[in-house]
Amino acid sequence: MSTLVFLEHHDGELQKGPLGVLGKAASLGGEVAGAIVGAGGSALAPDAGRHGAAKVWVAEDAALEAPLPQPRVDVLAKIVETGGYDTVLFAASVLASDVAAGLAARLEAGVNWDLVDLVDDGGRLVGKRPALGDSVLVDVAWKGTPAIGIVRAGTFEPAETGGEAEVAQAPVELEDFSTRATMLEQAHEEQAGPSIEDADVIVAGGRGLGGPENFALVEELAKALGGAVAATRAVVDAGWYPYSAQVGQTGKSVSPKLYVACGISGAIQHKVGMQSSNVIVAINKDGNAPIFEYSDLGVVGDLHQVVPKLTELVREKRG
Ligand SMILES: Cc1cc2nc3c(=O)[nH]c(=O)nc-3n(C[C@H](O)[C@H](O)[C@H](O)COP(=O)(O)OP(=O)(O)OC[C@H]3O[C@@H](n4cnc5c(N)ncnc54)[C@H](O)[C@@H]3O)c2cc1C
Repeated sequence: MSTLVFLEHHDGELQKGPLGVLGKAASLGGEVAGAIVGAGGSALAPDAGRHGAAKVWVAEDAALEAPLPQPRVDVLAKIVETGGYDTVLFAASVLASDVAAGLAARLEAGVNWDLVDLVDDGGRLVGKRPALGDSVLVDVAWKGTPAIGIVRAGTFEPAETGGEAEVAQAPVELEDFSTRATMLEQAHEEQAGPSIEDADVIVAGGRGLGGPENFALVEELAKALGGAVAATRAVVDAGWYPYSAQVGQTGKSVSPKLYVACGISGAIQHKVGMQSSNVIVAINKDGNAPIFEYSDLGVVGDLHQVVPKLTELVREKRG
């Protein structure tokens, strides 16, 4: 196998998701390279090497500065052609998923997404993909090449098991239609702490909070645990919290080490986005809430009393 991993970067840092995918690809063997597209790529190449890339392609053309997908499709298509890669892997994000879809269309390749594992089946790459509301895992493969795969956010933990990578300049030949879109404005949501895709700990709030002002309880607990805040669709639809925090079928899929669900009933559409978390803790006043069926630890109680107490205890414990 010869694998290329799209290494998304923001604010001068390679993202945790693709670094985890890089490490997984390296563990499968074969030739593994990374592609860093956009300003500052060369400076990030050593980090990619440490995480398992034997070679890093960098493309730092000014036209690639804005995080737009189409120019990245052009660059990756050329790298695949030049390097002869038979597999291209992405860690799920809005940008990476756009680029993967564009690359699949450009190369007439197949794309499998939401992968939670990758195995080498006698020289053939096979992906594992949850189906039927995450109740079963199906094996997926590709008929043609390159095999394009998008890995679920948070699936593989990055590990510094690599060394020094060879750095190569990627050819930048952009199609006319790829430069038609321009980024007029980019807004960053003010956020303290990690994003829900990267966080090891997520504290999620649902309708049981009773109102948007009570998200402060969830935020305080997340802060004490060094985690991120997530939400159910019910509260996002009600305008209590931004869509970017929604976990579930029509939101994000996450797999943190710890997921604390506060005032969340545990509907199937929420479950599919968080059930692969290592440890699930639920706080709900209804002992029959479905969330308890798949929680590792449950507290039946009023979150307005339980959550502040828990936050206090965490703070005490952490000093
Ligand atoms: C096509 C489709 C897609 C969907 N996609 C998503 C998705 O991506 N993500 C998602 O989350 N949902 C999604 N939904 C909605 C989903 O079906 C549920 O409606 C939603 O998850 C419920 O959110 P909730 O748990 O916050 O609210 P509720 O179901 O209203 O649950 C609130 C819970 O809080 C508890 N509670 C109330 N007061 C307290 C208190 N004081 N202390 C402790 N507990 C309390 C209650 O016992 C209850 O269990 C989707 C639905 C459809 C049809």
